[in-house]
Order: sequence, then structure tokens, then C-alpha cells
Amino acid sequence: MPSQHTIETGPAKIEGIFVPLDLTGMHILTQEWQTNGAIQVEIIATTTQATCPHCQRISVKIHDMRRRKKRDMALREHQVELILLKRRFTCQCCHKSFTEPDAACGWRKRTTARLRETIGQHACTQPVAHVANAFGVGPRFVQECLKIVALPKIEQTGCRIDEKHPLPTPRHLGIDEFARRKGHHYDTILCDLVNRTVLEISEGRTLEEVQKLLERLSDPDKVEAVSMDMSASFRPAVQLCLPKAHIVVDHFHVIQHVMKAFKKIVSSWAHKKEGKPLLQGKQYLFLTAQEHLTEEQAQERSQIGEELPHLEAAWQLKEALRTWYATATAATAADGLDTWIEQVQKSGFDHVRKALSAFVNWRQEILAFFQFLPTRISNGFVEGKNNRTKALMRQGYGYRNRQHLRLRILLGNVA
Ligand SMILES: [Zn+2]
Repeated sequence: MPSQHTIETGPAKIEGIFVPLDLTGMHILTQEWQTNGAIQVEIIATTTQATCPHCQRISVKIHDMRRRKKRDMALREHQVELILLKRRFTCQCCHKSFTEPDAACGWRKRTTARLRETIGQHACTQPVAHVANAFGVGPRFVQECLKIVALPKIEQTGCRIDEKHPLPTPRHLGIDEFARRKGHHYDTILCDLVNRTVLEISEGRTLEEVQKLLERLSDPDKVEAVSMDMSASFRPAVQLCLPKAHIVVDHFHVIQHVMKAFKKIVSSWAHKKEGKPLLQGKQYLFLTAQEHLTEEQAQERSQIGEELPHLEAAWQLKEALRTWYATATAATAADGLDTWIEQVQKSGFDHVRKALSAFVNWRQEILAFFQFLPTRISNGFVEGKNNRTKALMRQGYGYRNRQHLRLRILLGNVA
């Protein structure tokens, strides 16, 4: 390949593609295609002088020159290896020697800044292991590059990498936990439900740990509602730190809680002598929400219901709870819930009756949902983020590292 972007004229055929070096203050001395397919490019700074870092005077006396190998972005599948001729100057004033600065790569870096930036950009949207493979570098290096690119993006959204920084306070918060290591490390995820962003992913889920997280909210009195599910242990921390906020139990969870009990009833009927022939493969008719059945399916379901009145009664209770959620208002919710609980208690369905304890323990938080209508406060957004987090952790490298995982999740706010 010809050197320095000059085109050989005459009979020689041009066999290379010219790509500008595009490194400010650098120019090419030679370039050579290696037998391994790599392109080796010798470069040197254009300037003939440098400022002495000791006395700030300009020096032109070159002491020596060293070859430093640096990796640049590949051209197509060809690795590009820069040989940077780094000069050492001797200052004529203070007689100390010094190495010229290197803007293309940076102090003691073995890669160009633009390669690190590109790797970091890729890592913003792709798994670390995947990017490491594609660029032929180590996963730790990819993580470093990701950090360089991600930090400014994250800070633009108002989040900070510092874990003590005050958090912006939305009116509605969502809180949930996820296992970084099942049974060992649980972390807490706090979300802004108004702007649909993750505010923080903090270590641990104990009262003290969650308290520390909530105390970082810049204006705790502004919080009107905090959404959570019934399994979470966050209630005491929220009551302590945000006494003015209503705790709202996620309505999907409440319905799911009852659905679990109802499923047991349906499956027990599917095994009973009188239920088996009727329900064979038809359980879904009872488990699907009523409004999602076709007219035919609804008819079939009610026919089975006539044959199995006990199952029908349990189904009515399940649907009644769903109807209550869909139609009750702040004014009617409490009465409606009491009526439903009474019906369950009167019924002989032990499975559903056992599920009632949640309605006693979380009554206030279940009813709080209706205070915020027409906004249907739910933890769906938080759970979506949690599922994404679990998917990230399944992708492997680096996600057991909490800081890296946190960076990745906060980066999700930008995309
Ligand atoms: Zn000097």
C-alpha cells in the first residue's frame, strides 16, 4: 500500500483503499499490510516542538524516540495497529527530559480514544461478552469503555454515579427487590412512576438499607403514593421515611394472589370424578379473564358451570374481585371489598379463604389504590425493569458486579 495517502502514478496499480487517519495532530510515516491481515501504520505528531511540563517553556531538542504499539479501530476485518513514534524532548532551559503528550490515545493507554469510545457505544446496547468477542478484547476492558461512555449519559438524566447523591422526588414511587444471587444478595430498585425512570438500584433490602435509600429523596413530603407488592418487606421503611405517602399495593398482585388460590380449585375439579370429563383440557375457560373469552367459549364455560355449581361459585368470586377492581371508586371501594370478603368467608372454598389473610394485612394499602383514580397506580413499570435486570444477569459477564449492573440499568433510562 502506498504511504501517506499519496497515489502512485504510472503503471503501478492501486491496490488499497484510502482511509483518512483522522487523528488530529498526527500524520502517517509508513503503512504496511501484515501477513496476519493486520494493517500496521507508523504515525508521528506533526508538531516539531513540545512544552516542557516542568518549566512550561517550549523545547525543540529531541532526546530520543520510542515506538509504542497502539490498537486502533479495525478497517473492515483488518486490525489496525498504530506504531506511534513518541519523542522525548530535552528542555534547554531546565535540562529535564519529558515525553510529548499523546492526544490520540491518552497517557499510558494502549488503544486509541476513538476505539474505546466505539467499544463503549456498542456496550451500551449489547452484552459485554458479545462486544468483547466482536472486538477481540477482554470483557473487563469493555466494561471500562462502557463506563466512559455511560457516565455522561447517565448524569444528563439527573442520576449520579455517586450513591449518596440526593434523588429527585416524584409524586408516585415504585419499589421492588431483585436477587443478585438467589438467597444471598437482594437489591432494591426504586422508580419514578410519573416519568417512568429508574431512580436508583441500591444494595440490600433490609429496613436500614431501604431507609438509607429513601432518606436520599430530596423532598420526601412530595411523595403521594408508593407502589409495591404484598410480598415486599418495604412497608415499614416507607412508613418511617415517607409518613405522608399512601402505600398502594399493586392490583395485579392482589388479583394474582386470589388467582393462585382459584387455580388450585380448578385443578382439583379437573381431577374429581364429576369434573374430569367436563374439564379435560378446558381449565383455561375458567382461568382466562371473562372478557377475553369468545362468545362461544363463554357459553361453553357457563355450560360446564351449570354441571359443576361449586366450581361456578368459586369462579364467580374470582370474577367478582376483578369486577370490583374495575368498577369501584374511592367512595364505594371499602364496602365492595367487605361484601366480597364476606362472600368468600361464607363460601366453602378453603383455598380462597386462606388467601383472605392478605386482605386483612394489606387492607388499607389495597384500598389506597382507589384514592388515586383515574391514575391506576401499579408496579408494572418496576417489574418490567426487574425482568430486564434478570435478563441482563442471565447474559453473564460482569452483571454479578453490582456497580456494573447498576450502571447498565441506569443507562436504560437514556435509551
Ligand atoms: Zn523545562
